[in-house]
Amino acid sequence: MPAARIRVRGQVQGVGFRPFVWRLAARHEIRGEVSNDAEGVLIHAEGAALDVFLAALRDEAPPLARVDAVECEPVEPHLGLSGFSIRETHAGAVRTHVTPDAVVCPACSAEILDPDERRHGYPFANCTHCGPRFSILEQIPYDRATTTMRAFAMCPACRREYEDPGDRRFHAQPIACPDCGPRAWLEVAGTELSGEALALAAARLRAGQILAVKGIGGFHLACDARNEVAVAELRRRKRRPGKPFALMAPDLETIRRFARVSAAEGEILATPAAPVVLLEAAGEALAPSVAPGQWALGWMLPTGPLHLLLLRAFGGPLVMTSGNLSGDPQAIGNDEAREKLTPFVDAFLMHDRKIARRLDDSVARRAGGALRMQRRARGYAPETLPLPTGLAAAPPILAYGGHLKAALCLVRDGQALLSHHLGDLDDALSCTEFDKAERDYAALFDHTPQVLACDQHPDYRTTRSAEARADVDGLPLVRVQHHHAHIAAAMAEAGWEPRAGPVLGVAFDGLGWGPDGSVWGGEWLLCDYARFERLAWLRPVPLPGGTAAQREPWRNLMAQLDACDLPAEADALLADKPLATLRAAVDRGLNAPLSSSAGRLFDAVACAAGLAPERQSYEGEAAMLLEAAARPALSAARPYPFGRDGAAVDPAPMWAALLADRAAGVPAGVLAARFHLGLAEAASGVARALAKAHGARAIALTGGCFQNVTLLELCLGRLAGCTVLTHSATPSNDGGLALGQAAVAAAQVLAQR
Ligand code: ZN
Ligand code: ZN
Ligand code: FE
Repeated sequence: MPAARIRVRGQVQGVGFRPFVWRLAARHEIRGEVSNDAEGVLIHAEGAALDVFLAALRDEAPPLARVDAVECEPVEPHLGLSGFSIRETHAGAVRTHVTPDAVVCPACSAEILDPDERRHGYPFANCTHCGPRFSILEQIPYDRATTTMRAFAMCPACRREYEDPGDRRFHAQPIACPDCGPRAWLEVAGTELSGEALALAAARLRAGQILAVKGIGGFHLACDARNEVAVAELRRRKRRPGKPFALMAPDLETIRRFARVSAAEGEILATPAAPVVLLEAAGEALAPSVAPGQWALGWMLPTGPLHLLLLRAFGGPLVMTSGNLSGDPQAIGNDEAREKLTPFVDAFLMHDRKIARRLDDSVARRAGGALRMQRRARGYAPETLPLPTGLAAAPPILAYGGHLKAALCLVRDGQALLSHHLGDLDDALSCTEFDKAERDYAALFDHTPQVLACDQHPDYRTTRSAEARADVDGLPLVRVQHHHAHIAAAMAEAGWEPRAGPVLGVAFDGLGWGPDGSVWGGEWLLCDYARFERLAWLRPVPLPGGTAAQREPWRNLMAQLDACDLPAEADALLADKPLATLRAAVDRGLNAPLSSSAGRLFDAVACAAGLAPERQSYEGEAAMLLEAAARPALSAARPYPFGRDGAAVDPAPMWAALLADRAAGVPAGVLAARFHLGLAEAASGVARALAKAHGARAIALTGGCFQNVTLLELCLGRLAGCTVLTHSATPSNDGGLALGQAAVAAAQVLAQR
């Protein structure tokens, strides 16, 4: 094959792909040219070593590139072609490809640590293979002038690198150096301190101070993770009593001193996205207040050169928690941070590169042989996910997601773009953020929806936004049942084709609107993308006090025991609680909707085991403490039995056995383990039977409860031999809901055609 036209598809723009092709061509003596266009990268190539060149396109692609396809067709050679050139991109021809932020690459790390390099010690070094992207992007197309780096004029030395196709900074839009780029400083009470900012900051951290540190997607609060006084003080100032703090370490070796890190977990930690990875605590101890009662701690590696230099200067693990008051979104602007964070901190590690959008740290863990995303934000957004081909013909869709862990989903041309985590919409600031994101994503991705999708819950903020938009723009609005959306999200992520038939979905969740007027959350649904049928559920019990029952686990214990005709046991276990008043309200049907929620069952069991706080200080607290207690006892424990009453899966036998254990003085960890085993047995046993009876060829596991890796792995073990669809790149919690809503809307629209 003397000459070929090569098409490369995937994430191949803005990642240094053209200069990579140029270098490859030089190495293999290929003549021709490379350009960007609407479909990706297009290459004309001629030369004897064309086959080697083709293979290398895939095998040696730059670190931030994702090559989905390399298509090659033979063409006539161009007469008189000499050399290989990079063609300029024609404005307007390129469909927007924006890549996520990436941590400092090995080459840039080596450079900033090398005293002979001009970027030695420079906290904003980056290149085509690393650096900020989405967090500095103001508008499209991605170019220096459309990022917050436009405030800095390139010096001649940077300009030369930027224009040299042989340099790894060729067209690196955020290129910077100490002569021309952003700078960092340490600030106390509005005054900049003289001296080297990172050394000053590290010294203060060593002295036990709390610092606000401006990062990639927002401010963090940092302190010495081994200094109990400092960590406890941070909890007090932040008014965050129990929710675990994330940690940052200078390198993998440091993390290994405090946590068990498998090879696969090490790889996730070291990916360019640098998420927080939940790892089992082992080895040296940290300050007890870092994560009270937890078995897994959230660790990340430095997210940029500033953090790398800070962590190196400090020399140990730091607490690195988002810079906000509990519930508020993270601060991103310097003045905003000064205004909001001054009461929390002793000093600010500031810099003058503007953050264009708030991006929280992503949170992931490894379970059941795969990565499990729990919060999808910095480093992952705005990556797209391919929809199953059977849904690819759908028109552009915008799905609004849930209420907590809000995220939007844009669908176009068979690709789904799940936005970054937008926070909990109980918070006014997060609502503002959400509205901004709706406009922001539409503009950045040139997206005009023809169909909208939302939850069926009438009071979700997102439902009201979707209704208002549908009204103004005259668009159809598809309302998707909460757990149908969860299951559809798992199906879509797994690439389940509509023609492959229905799936039996197990959705174990907090609370979701049920069409029968009750609150769902422990469901076995037979689903295809367009429709679902509710086949089984956890036996519903009242939620005494409505939303108060989400906060206070003991209310759910009363409801569970009363439903099992064990009110005397409830009285004995909850002697100090106002049960009589609550029961009177339940009897009159006051603020006590029925719910099949699995999440609330976890709360009740945690309370019965003596592991739940009186009042949860964060969502899932009781369940996380229950899981932590269960871990060491799992291997020796036997499952608690669950019963069946028609379509209802009945926890009554479980309660009888648990109370007997408790009366016999069996340790709380064993109770917790037996509950996990029993629930996994019930979830998978019922799913297997229903899938068989209804001809479903796969089982999906989804909903917030499957963030519990113990439950997830126990279920996967019991479903060995079945096709099981689980979440990996998208969260199983409400953070992934919008993807499912979009998939359901796509299927319904296609079915109508
Ligand atoms: Zn780099
Ligand atoms: Zn420069
Ligand atoms: Fe949910």
